Amino acid sequence: LGKGTADTTIHKFSPEMDTLRISNNDIVANMAKALDDQEFILLYQPKINLSTGELVGAEALVRWMRHGKMIPPDKFIPLFERNGFIKHLDYYVLDKACAFVATHPDAPKISVNLSGVTIMQSGFDRRILNIIDQHGIAHSQIDLEITETAFVEQFEESLGRIQNLRSKGITISMDDFGAGISSLSRLKNMPIDILKIDRAFIVDSIGNPRGGHIIKCVVQMAQKLNMETVAEGIETRAQEEFLHNLCCDVGQGYYFNRPLPENEFIKLLNQ
Ligand code: C2E
Ligand code: MG
Ligand code: MG
Ligand code: MG
Repeated sequence: LGKGTADTTIHKFSPEMDTLRISNNDIVANMAKALDDQEFILLYQPKINLSTGELVGAEALVRWMRHGKMIPPDKFIPLFERNGFIKHLDYYVLDKACAFVATHPDAPKISVNLSGVTIMQSGFDRRILNIIDQHGIAHSQIDLEITETAFVEQFEESLGRIQNLRSKGITISMDDFGAGISSLSRLKNMPIDILKIDRAFIVDSIGNPRGGHIIKCVVQMAQKLNMETVAEGIETRAQEEFLHNLCCDVGQGYYFNRPLPENEFIKLLNQ
């Protein structure tokens, strides 16, 4: 059993707590049925315009709910990337996110994470467009987050597919920018709209002057390249003010909201 099981009665249910311990073998043995049985759910974490405080988007983050407990993505996504199942999950999450947008006229733009394994599939761009179009929503309602490290193999092919999606009005975010190696060459060659600065830089933005200078230069560089900047993992007011003062456009993190279950996210939209 996960830790914290004894005192959960005093909390209200939240998918963020009570983690299920499960072996890698059990994950792989159960993944396909879990997808059929809708055990994967989406949480929505708001993205906030740092100048106006407005909610301008949300990132869909997947959780595996099994026997009333949660399996976090870090536990199963690396396995799914190794055995190829990740593409099914990514398309599933996109489909659910589009369904949400289609049924909630006040929904902001929703960001969906795509694995590097998914974007290497030939025809992945057509598949993405099919899913979005089946729901009849505007392409501009969907943003795709792709980590900078995803563009290692078959770079040219992936690049063409990404370019195709952008030409249809879907925005592309480079996720976890700065965390990998050769971030700058990726930035130079990748057709992207939004730069998401990795949480590691936000964490020591205040205490570490070198880290602070780097963020400042990254934001300025993004502005020169006509990209929007998003800071992920903002946890304190001091970090929020620091990034706002640097003219970073958008913030996301526990300081504003945790990733929220759909019903709580809807409540927030209605406020
Ligand atoms: P990511 O895309 O970089 O997502 C941000 C992660 O940071 C999320 O972790 C989020 O819950 C967490 N986070 C947000 N604000 C804060 C904060 O203020 N402090 C801290 N400490 N953490 C914060 P999560 O939900 O566990 O997801 C982990 C990773 O799993 C994601 O990183 C993403 O790479 C991957 N992932 C999640 N859903 C999907 C999916 O549907 N498909 C794929 N391919 N990957 C996914
Ligand atoms: Mg992301
Ligand atoms: Mg990220
Ligand atoms: Mg990350």
